[in-house]
Order: sequence, then structure tokens, then C-alpha cells
Amino acid sequence: MKINLEIPEVAIREKRLGSITGFCGTAEGLVKTARCGKLKEENRSFSQWAGCSVGKALCQLSMIQDAVVIQHGPIGCSGEFAKFGFVNRVGQKERDFTVKNISAVSSNLEEKDTIYGGGVKLRKTIKKAFDRFNPKAIFVTTSCASGIIGDDIESIVEKSEKELGIPVVYISCEGFRSRVWTTGFDAAFHGILRKIVKPPVEKKKDVINIINFWGSDVFTNLFKKIGLKANYIVPFTTVEQLSKLSEAAASVQICSTLGTYLAAGLEQEYGVLEVKAPQPYGIAGTDSWFRELGKVTGKEKKVEELIKSEKERITPQLEELRSRLKGKTGYITAGAAYGHIFATLLKELNINVIGASVYHHDPVYDNRSESTDTLGHVVKNYGDIPNYDVSNKQSFEFVNVLNKIKPDICITRHPGMAIWGVRLGIPTLLWATENLSIGYQGLINFGERILDLIENDEFVKNIAEHSELPYTDWWMNQNPYSFLGSKNNTKNKLHKHHVEV
Ligand code: SF4
Repeated sequence: MKINLEIPEVAIREKRLGSITGFCGTAEGLVKTARCGKLKEENRSFSQWAGCSVGKALCQLSMIQDAVVIQHGPIGCSGEFAKFGFVNRVGQKERDFTVKNISAVSSNLEEKDTIYGGGVKLRKTIKKAFDRFNPKAIFVTTSCASGIIGDDIESIVEKSEKELGIPVVYISCEGFRSRVWTTGFDAAFHGILRKIVKPPVEKKKDVINIINFWGSDVFTNLFKKIGLKANYIVPFTTVEQLSKLSEAAASVQICSTLGTYLAAGLEQEYGVLEVKAPQPYGIAGTDSWFRELGKVTGKEKKVEELIKSEKERITPQLEELRSRLKGKTGYITAGAAYGHIFATLLKELNINVIGASVYHHDPVYDNRSESTDTLGHVVKNYGDIPNYDVSNKQSFEFVNVLNKIKPDICITRHPGMAIWGVRLGIPTLLWATENLSIGYQGLINFGERILDLIENDEFVKNIAEHSELPYTDWWMNQNPYSFLGSKNNTKNKLHKHHVEV
């Protein structure tokens, strides 16, 4: 499906990419099923919770330094303002910016607004936000309430845009629209592509857009060695910077789940080439990623020199880590592409990945290229992963699995999930500083952290001794996938070291 910027609402991942949130089997089985177009959602008869696209849209939009986000919904839908306010302040400090709060407000829909409509309130909120913050753009993110009552947000923002003379952008990210909450990233990028990015005035052959979250700067120095410049997007940018994304030579992503829509959209609309390679983690992935980057920017020779020197530099440390971690077992829980990244890193370090619980699966990304099949890359280069499930953060399944397979280390990117491993006495790594595991040095950074946790497990053992799980034996003794798929489905089983339990 081509990206369609003519329509105000982004097409959700389920429709655009065929993404799912329910599966149980092996990584290889998932890759094969997805490639032959037979991937189907397995429904759950019980679900503990569901994520929301609003948070994902906010995580990109709220940190644009001179824009305002208006969350058009009940106040509760703005819960993540606090989180991104904190992330924004930390990031500003790291970048030597003036530290200030995010500019985000709620239209505060109340019960009566769901009867009479929220349009008037939204118009007033847009005007107030403009007067208070003097922004260069306003993004209006939606909510289940505004979606259900059918506020005509596109008309309101069009009118406001004419009155105020700045882009006012409708971001359709109602939680109920998609089971796959990363649709919120796409909604934010859809709005940026439609209303903020302008046609190029001057093409810059050495500028590379890096679609990322808010992590540390690892690319500036690496890119300098090959004559390129890093342009980190979207958090911590300005509206003007975003308007020039079309002028870059290429776009790369630190996570395909995050960047798929924006990278494909920039290539489709403005010819900004997307680097179509596995993600830059682990040796095989980083090699391919840099080679593809070299190819699209004409820097092949310099890239080969960089690969050689970086690999030579890290080899002694890598060999040491591999020998000390050999034979250890690992389990992963993370967002889709990030789960694939963790699998790559663990396998590179000689750790046996005995299972994973990833929050959704995209059988294909927006570029439709097989060379960016991130899970396929893991299976092809490092072998299969048993006990591979797709679960939109259903903790009850995760705790049950973890308790049965008891890995030496558990890796996650979400704080809410880290606590379960710790309470079971399993060394658990919450890897929130995503950029620090990128590239050759990233593999070393990651390996050192894991080794440290495995060798110093007293803390988690103590916590486990003093904690009680909220789940009863009734649940913990059952098959973790009892609520996944139809009642007659017998294939959803956990394999403990290849023995069914
Ligand atoms: S938009 Fe819907 S799912 Fe998201 S926080 Fe609001 S009510 Fe919950």
C-alpha cells in the first residue's frame, strides 16, 4: 500500500502492513508464515491491558522544541505528558539547550462535551495555546472520546491554520483505532509529512536523517570518519529543521518499528533514499547497514575502511565477552524491531536466546523490501528462537513463561516489564539508552552491562526472596498460552529446552 498523504488519517498498521499482536511458535515459523502472506492474528479470550497510540505520537511530537501539542480528549489521555516532560528536560540538559517544560495542553473533554461535541473547546484551546506559547506549529492529537463523538478535527485545524498563519496539524491517534500502538508513530509522521516537510530548496549530499527516539549521540563521530553529517529527528528538533528533511541525502532508522513510515514517506515524496538494510546492531547487521549507507551516499571506500578499523578495535574485548558469556541463556521482551535487536546482540555475545515476547509483529515494513526483514535477519544469521511469542505486553503470559524457563538474563526496554524478572530473581536488564547498543562499540557496551548483571545477582535474589507474585498457582501451573487462540488450538505450547511443558 502506497503512503497516501492526501487523506488526513494515517492507515493503521493492521491494514497497511498486516501487523498482528497475537502469535506463539518460533521465530523461524513466524518469518516463514509472514513471507508467504499467511500470517493471521490469534485472538486472546482474556487480555490484561492494551497500549495506546497517543503515547507513541507524543513521544515524537512533544519534544519538538518550538511546537505545541494539544491532546484533544479527557484529561486522563494526557497522562504521558509527565513522562515526556521528564525525558525532554533530561535530553535538553544533555544537549546544552535551555531546560524548559514541554509545551503540551489538554482540551479537557468532559461528559457534556461528549454530548454537545468538543469542537468549540478545541478551537478555544488552539487559540489559547497559540497566545500562550507563540509556537511555530501546533499538533492536535486525538483520543477515543473525540473519535467516538466524531469531532470534525480536520476542518477545525484547517480554519485555525488560516487564522493563525502557522501549521496546525491533525494527528489521528485514537487508542481504539489500532491494536498496534506503534500506529501512533505513523500518525505523528503522517502529520509531519503532510504539513511540515517542504519540497527541497537545496539538496545536501552529506546530510543523513537519523530517525530515533531521544538517545545519546553515537553517530556524529562515526559519520565524520566517512564524510557525513548526522541529522537526528524528531525529538529535540525545531519546526524549521523538520521542514528541511527533504533536503537530506538519505534516511536511516535506529529502529524499524519507529522509522518505517517516515523513511518510506520521505523517499516516496522527495526521493530521500532510505537505507534498506538490517538495523545497525551486532556485527552482521552493522556491516550490512554501513555498506548500504556507503552505497547510497557514494562512500563505499571510506565505509570499508571504517568497518575494518572498528572491527579490529573491538575484537579483543568482544572475544573476551563471548568466552565469559558462552552457555548463558537469555529471554527478551520488547517492542517488535527492538526485540529483534536484542536477539541479535545476545546471539552475537554467545548467549542462547531461549525465548522472546515481542509486542507486535510487522510482516513487512513500508518500503516492502525483504532486505529490511529484521526478524528474518536474526534467523538467517544466528538461527531460530524457540518460545517466540507476539503479545501486546500481557504480563500474565510473560510472568508465567519466565517462571518456567528461568533464563540467566532477561532483557527489556520497558520499565513496567523489568520488575517481573527481578521479582523472580532473574537478572534483568532495562535497556533504555537505546543508541548505546548501536554499531561495533554498542555490542561491547551491551555485553559489559549483561556480564555485570549476571555476575552480580545478589540484589535480585534478595528481592525475589522477599516478594510475592500477585499470580496464584492456579495460573502459574497452566500453559501460559491458555488464552491465546481458539480453545481447540493445541499448538500454542511453551518448550522448556525443547521439552513441552
Ligand atoms: S485515547 Fe483511548 S486508549 Fe488512549 S488513553 Fe485515551 S481513552 Fe485510553
